[in-house]
Amino acid sequence: MASICPVCGGKLGLLNREKSADGLICAGCSNFFFSKLGIRAAKQPTAALAEYWATLESRRRTFKETDSIFDRDALFVSIDKVNRLFYFGHRSGDKGPRMIYSFDEVAGYESDAPDDLTVTETKGGIGRAVIGAAVAGPVGAIVGASTAKTETRKGRIKESVSIHFALPLGESSLPTTVYPGGMTAFLKSCKVSHEKPQAAAPLAPSAADELLKFKQLLDMGAITEAEYNAKKSQLLGL
Ligand SMILES: [Zn+2]
Repeated sequence: MASICPVCGGKLGLLNREKSADGLICAGCSNFFFSKLGIRAAKQPTAALAEYWATLESRRRTFKETDSIFDRDALFVSIDKVNRLFYFGHRSGDKGPRMIYSFDEVAGYESDAPDDLTVTETKGGIGRAVIGAAVAGPVGAIVGASTAKTETRKGRIKESVSIHFALPLGESSLPTTVYPGGMTAFLKSCKVSHEKPQAAAPLAPSAADELLKFKQLLDMGAITEAEYNAKKSQLLGL
């Protein structure tokens, strides 16, 4: 019986082993993938788990914080812009090995934060924003509504965000969580920077999309019924 976990290299005993799709791994690894990523190790081949673990280990070694998103609360985000990595941390410390995400693994997010600050500024009307500013106290000159909102955002505004990741092991999502302000803008920057190369490969239109176009041409009278039917047979492979 092997006594070394093929994923993390840790001990693999009778009492702490779990199944992967095709072998045994340690309970620590199994827990890590499930609790941090929501991925069931039992459905993954050992080699895939081991490969991703090795990726994470190398991220843990290279990570150097260049930026962070934090406020007075416990949850913070540490970012390494050079290596394009980030992780979520808790001020009280974190248990177990760290999950470090790559910017390129961010597949999407939903956020209650406004896309554009100026949009929210007018939400409650200028009057309301100015009242907000007055309550905030004599921090600098109150020039107008926009000054007031920017001031609040820096210090106080929280953002509720759920994040979706596309990992080599599959899709993973973090449920809606309250993050310090700035989280959404950061995720946006991750997505934008990794969507660019993908834009180069356009998707082939589906047969249904194509057919719809020809149906529209038919309805417009641009093509005849016979031409439409011929195209239809061709597209549907009839
Ligand atoms: Zn292990």
